[in-house]
Parts: sequence; structure tokens; C-alpha cells
Amino acid sequence: MKKLLFFSLTFLLSLNALAEDIYKRTLKLMGSRFEITVIAGNKAEADEYIDLAVIEIVRIEKLISSWDPNSQTSEINRNAGLKAVTVDRELFNLIQRAIKISEITDGAFDISYASMDRIWKFDGSMNEMPSEEEIKASVAKVGFKNILLDEKNSTVFLKNSGMKIGFGAIGKGYAADKAKDLLLSKGVPGGIINASGDMNTWGKQPDGREWMVALTNPLNKDQAFALLPLREGAVVTSGDYEKFVKFNGVRYSHIINPKTGYPATGIISVSVFAHKAELADALATSVFVLGKDVGLNRIDQLPQVECIIIEANGNISTSKNIKINSP
Ligand code: ADP
Ligand code: MG
Repeated sequence: MKKLLFFSLTFLLSLNALAEDIYKRTLKLMGSRFEITVIAGNKAEADEYIDLAVIEIVRIEKLISSWDPNSQTSEINRNAGLKAVTVDRELFNLIQRAIKISEITDGAFDISYASMDRIWKFDGSMNEMPSEEEIKASVAKVGFKNILLDEKNSTVFLKNSGMKIGFGAIGKGYAADKAKDLLLSKGVPGGIINASGDMNTWGKQPDGREWMVALTNPLNKDQAFALLPLREGAVVTSGDYEKFVKFNGVRYSHIINPKTGYPATGIISVSVFAHKAELADALATSVFVLGKDVGLNRIDQLPQVECIIIEANGNISTSKNIKINSP
């Protein structure tokens, strides 16, 4: 009897597994194109899961957006040089982790880069290079050491007036992680949260294969140069091929060196692999600023973090443990 029960149970389970399918939805969130993929038994179930992920991402955007005047982040920025602002623990912790990444990258990654957003604009509205003075003045407001945190009271204070924080280089990764965690907690067996190239995956495809990610070559966008399996992990690609400005033949990327106030040059694409998309996101931006040699050196010192760098001259470099299989 027991045996029969066992057999019918496994039969039912395998029927269920057979019925599982991959469902996808593409939509605009956080000003970017998101693609949410889940494994579910049917479309209605998949839609329910995807709706939950969307609600979670919208919630995060409301907390961290520096464009939305009603966000706690905007409240922090408005009070720069004035007073400490009490924030949700979630935002406090995100800022704390961002500062830790600043410390391990010698300030190449810095959420207080945002005061430089006032002079460098990558939305097509810029038609001349900012002046030396403007650049100097904006850089003077940057410095993660002037983001003062009070753990006990959960407050954030930007010490100098004119300072500003922004999560452009970490927010999408964070949202991808949180949406994944939520769906995992709801029992979704597998999926991918792809926030325009910042992605985190879990589980496997219904047929048992790993999720594969294709990395595109920025020099030839229609062609993937690597196809890699992703096991329970994240990969984030930062590229300058979507957002950049060109002055006197020099291409300036939307990633700015907090020390000089000038956009990073030389690298056109960085992909970072890590357990969390948040860390991968922040590190991809950091490698852009640090440059190929220092960047690779840093990545090689971090456990379970790998990266692939493409330079403007087409050179491709990888960290120690990475293997590229051409598709
Ligand atoms: P993408 O937006 O293409 O995914 P990134 O994750 O690299 O690219 O984030 C780039 C964004 O990060 C910029 O548009 C800007 O908002 C912000 N940023 C620019 N320079 C820095 C920096 N040095 N440290 C932290 N954030 C930065
Ligand atoms: Mg980034």
C-alpha cells in the first residue's frame, strides 16, 4: 500500500513537473526595461507571481528613487548640510552596504557621486563639455565619508550642503535580489529577474538545464560573445554603449570617477558575477572607474566574484576563474 502511494505520488509529482513551463513578462520599471521570468504550472499562476515581483520592485523604487520628491532618499538629499533624516531600516542598511563597497574599492564606487549628475547629463541634453571649475566644484561635494550614519536612531546625514546620494549603480541589482527572494519565499521553483542586464536567477529550467545567459559584445550588439550557465547567482553588465556623450572625439561614459569628476574612459563593458546582483552591480560600476588592471586585481581578491572586461580597443580580459564558451 505504502509502495503504491509512493508510486502514485511520484507519478503525480512528475506530471506536475511536466506541466511546468517558463513564463515571461517585459515591462518598464525604475526607468529601465525589466524582464521577469518564472517557472509555473500555468499562466494564471505565473501572472500572480510576476505581479508580486512587480509590486516589490515598485516599492523599492519608491524608497530609493532620487527623482521622486516623496522618497526617503530625496528627503535625505534635501536635508544635506541641514539635518539627519530618519529612514526605514531597509534604506539605512542599503546605504551602509554601499559605503562598505566604497571602502573596498577605494571610493571608486560612491553613492554620493550624484552631485556630479548636475553637470554631466547623459539624456542627450548636454551639448558642451562642463568647465574645469564646474567639474572641480561638483567633485568637492562627493565623498562617502561625509555620509554620516547613526545606527541606533536609523538616521542618515549628508554633512555638506549640495551633497546628494543616488542608487543608479546599485538599485537595480538590489531590486533584482529582493524580487528573487520574494518569489523564492513563495515557492516559485525557478526564475530570472533581469533588470536591463542586471540579473539574478534561481532554480533551473523545467527540463533540468541550467539557465544560460548570453553576454553581448558592445562592439557588435547583435552578436553574443559568450554563453554562460548561471547557477543560483547573479550577473550584471555595465556598459557605456547606451548612455554616453562624445566631445572632441572622446567618448565619456555615464560612470563618473568620484576623484576626478570626469567620466571613466577606456572600458566599454564590464560583466560581474556574484551571489547577489546588488554586489555585482556596484562592482561592475567600480571596475569601470578603477580601469582594467586595478579592477581585475580587486575582483580576484574577492571570494566567489568574477568578471569579464571589454576595452574600447576590443580587448577582452577575464578574472582568474572564468571560462568563456563561445556560443
Ligand atoms: P547601468 O545603469 O547601465 O546599469 P551602472 O550600474 O554602471 O550602469 O550604473 C551607472 C549609474 O550609476 C550612472 O548612471 C549613475 O547614476 C551612477 N554612477 C555613476 N558613477 C558612479 C560612481 N562612481 N559610483 C556610484 N554610482 C555611480
Ligand atoms: Mg552598476
